[in-house]
Amino acid sequence: MDPVAPFRFAGLPVRVVFGEGTLAEVGAEVARLGRSRALVLATPGHAAAAEALAASLGAASAGFFAGAVMHTPVAVSEAAVAAYRDAEADCVVALGGGSTIGLGKAIALRTGADQVAVPTTYAGSEMTDILGETAAGRKTTRRDRAILPETVIYDVALTLSLPARLTATSGLNAMAHAVEALYAPDRNPIVTLMAGEAVAALAAALPVLAADPGDRTARGRALYGAWLGGAALGGTTMGLHHKLCHVLGGSFGLPHAETHAVILPHAVAFNAGAAKGLLAPLVAALGGPPGERILALAERIGAPRSLAELGLAERDLDRAAALATESAYANPRPVTPAALRGLLARAWAGEAPAA
Ligand code: NAD
Repeated sequence: MDPVAPFRFAGLPVRVVFGEGTLAEVGAEVARLGRSRALVLATPGHAAAAEALAASLGAASAGFFAGAVMHTPVAVSEAAVAAYRDAEADCVVALGGGSTIGLGKAIALRTGADQVAVPTTYAGSEMTDILGETAAGRKTTRRDRAILPETVIYDVALTLSLPARLTATSGLNAMAHAVEALYAPDRNPIVTLMAGEAVAALAAALPVLAADPGDRTARGRALYGAWLGGAALGGTTMGLHHKLCHVLGGSFGLPHAETHAVILPHAVAFNAGAAKGLLAPLVAALGGPPGERILALAERIGAPRSLAELGLAERDLDRAAALATESAYANPRPVTPAALRGLLARAWAGEAPAA
């Protein structure tokens, strides 16, 4: 057995309630936090679900705010904080994907509100103390314990309505968290176990869901993988892949999950040689060279292949590469501007990833 390398570990204190039908436990979880006026949050498309959840909370409801937007624009957060104060709420219930959970975090950061997160995608934000906010065309990210939700309710039934494309891209988003946790500079044995289990669960579930989005066992497995991927993200520092997605989403408005799906094969192929042993759980889950296999998986499950199809203009590649090399970050393989420009060009055109 290899010697155990030195490590630091600090588990994030989130209460997790997992299972089909657990949405019914929101009221009890709000009460468990000692709170009595919950403002339910959602995106505009989920206003009806937010209204229904608020109604089900009875006297513990402070209404709903269905204005969440991707990449957490500060102006939206300020409007939501005003709604939270007007409603005299004492906690938020974020029902939705990463955009809604991001709004809950932004309110918590500004007001100290407790958060119950009820994720409906595989984005994993609910398990982290990270908040990315956009203002004036730039996305800035911060980490703070005040951002971490107190309680997360994973209801497998809520993911049954995820469209096939979002299932694929959001699933790859979850896999990306686990992949970068495997080679994170601050990885530790617990995170490595969680990340290995996450990639295995996601690699098994996503092809099944592409063929049958209503397969409840695979839905459960995918959500389980997403939970572990989110926990791995929350416990480590991400590298090149997340840096690129952050720049492409925050400065060019590219959609979050789709961007992760396009970049992941390229980032993994770029890092695979430098992180060989560390990526062993990924190689085992995919059964071969990880960059190539992730591309094949993405194709099989119907994820997009190029940044061009996500709407990035070719002329923006230079600026994206410059923004992604502006500040230093840890990555298994050193990142040069020329290498990054090449990687982005391949991802833009939908070409095969290069080592
Ligand atoms: P999203 O929350 O924007 O959801 C995408 C779309 O899918 C929305 O229109 C939403 O209403 C719809 N949707 C969500 N769940 C659905 C369901 N079950 N059935 C049908 N439709 C559904 O997208 P996302 O990818 O979950 O989250 C992206 C955002 O999360 C970005 O802003 C990103 O920066 C953030 N994020 C943050 C972290 C973090 O740790 N801070 C981690 C991951 C993602």
